[in-house]
Amino acid sequence: MEISSIEKLRTKMRGAVFCPGQEGYDRARTIPNAMIDRRPAVIARCTGAADVIASVRFGREHDLLVSVRGGGHSVAGKSVCDGGLMIDLSGMKGMRVDLAKRTARAEPGLTLGEFDSETQAFGLATTLGTVTKTGISGLTLGGGWGHLHANYGLALDNLISVDVVTAAGELLTASASENPELFWGLRGSSGNLGIVTSLEYRLHQVGHVFGGAVFYPVTKTREVFHFFREFAGSIPDELVIQTAAVSLPDGTPVCAVVGCYSGTLAHAEEALKPLRMFGTPIGDIFAPISYVQMQSLFDPFFPPGRYTYVKSNFVRTLSDQAIETMAEYANSRPSPYSFAPALEHWHGAAARVAATDTAFPHRNHSYNLMAWSNWADQADSEKNVQWTREFWHAMKPHLVEGSYVNYVSDEGEPSARAAYGPNYNRLVALKNKYDPTNFFRMNHNIKPAVAKSA
Ligand SMILES: Cc1cc2nc3c(=O)[nH]c(=O)nc-3n(C[C@H](O)[C@H](O)[C@H](O)COP(=O)(O)OP(=O)(O)OC[C@H]3O[C@@H](n4cnc5c(N)ncnc54)[C@H](O)[C@@H]3O)c2cc1C
Repeated sequence: MEISSIEKLRTKMRGAVFCPGQEGYDRARTIPNAMIDRRPAVIARCTGAADVIASVRFGREHDLLVSVRGGGHSVAGKSVCDGGLMIDLSGMKGMRVDLAKRTARAEPGLTLGEFDSETQAFGLATTLGTVTKTGISGLTLGGGWGHLHANYGLALDNLISVDVVTAAGELLTASASENPELFWGLRGSSGNLGIVTSLEYRLHQVGHVFGGAVFYPVTKTREVFHFFREFAGSIPDELVIQTAAVSLPDGTPVCAVVGCYSGTLAHAEEALKPLRMFGTPIGDIFAPISYVQMQSLFDPFFPPGRYTYVKSNFVRTLSDQAIETMAEYANSRPSPYSFAPALEHWHGAAARVAATDTAFPHRNHSYNLMAWSNWADQADSEKNVQWTREFWHAMKPHLVEGSYVNYVSDEGEPSARAAYGPNYNRLVALKNKYDPTNFFRMNHNIKPAVAKSA
């Protein structure tokens, strides 16, 4: 690309523009998953909607492959492209909490930790994910499962409105009353329909929670997963649980059950009693803690710079045979840093939304299986990827085809299609209208019916 074109872009942007070899370029293209090492030709670090519009127009004029970076946590590395234009939103961190309305207006470069610290100053929160460095925008546009989902729905269920820059470089607002069909599609289509420059969320009163985990020897995974299935069937919306084979920081392999009770604290001990009384745990760290502490519980397990490969699908039925297979693989993880097998329990408010009410369709599966492999040394990549695939193949008979779009590594078109399930065709109609040339295609892509070259 001509230097003069880049200089022209610089004059149109308030934010910085980085090219290969320039100070800041390598930092800007680096994301937490070390498996992804891509080199965009240009990185446009936006400061607001005007910069985003300028970048989109630049991308069109020069016929560039475009990627959009929010928090950069897509395990598939969708936020960084090779040779094209990376539109980087990570500097857009403005936020305003409206106490009277109990809402927050947030820019897309915020991380979960930054968002939570603003809302928790007022004893408020909304559903986000469970690791603080994750970006709010990618997480929300794909779904957003977290400790509050059973009380208040997924992150995207708490959206009131969004501002979005379309592939034509136009800024639109989408809400239940303005561009409602676009609003429907933005909630679940993971960046396919435009670049979201502002998100308005509903907030809820959330004070201290009763949270933590119990740990069992990993050799007890079978028994723990049987118990988990039974317990999950009877818990209230205030309680969210998940389980995984992991290793503690001292290297001890364990089967952990993590829980967060976000209702009245006086009822928490009773609700968690069956879990804390089950078997003979080797550790129990449940306690009343601040919501911010709960949200950062997993942070030490996910330092940036690890290699990550993930397979994930919702579980058809958590049968005895499925548990048997998981128990077998729990003992053979090649890396102590992996969360595998891991099960999230999905229930409550998130499950009471109909599959077609938003573009996110997965409302009636109780368990999401993850083989979330992390390792520290590139030389270990092959064995970890192979193990992840083998485990996932062994589990396939117990899994549905559809997966949560935010959890999958790059699996190509059939997997992307299944992730949008029954909503795919309606999303294609939106893609035809708002992005007929598939300008936004560095994502789990929804192909417009007639894709002209972008
Ligand atoms: C360590 C870790 C923990 C996680 N924990 C959870 C969890 O508890 N719950 C959960 O639900 N998910 C979780 N996730 C998955 C997470 O939701 C996804 O990785 C999500 O994509 C992260 O968003 P991001 O903005 O950081 O990612 P990015 O990689 O920046 O973006 C992801 C996708 O969204 C697009 N995108 C991002 N921002 C915008 C925008 N403003 N407008 C349009 N498109 C945009 C990107 O182009 C890309 O295709 C976790 C991921 C990791 C790595």
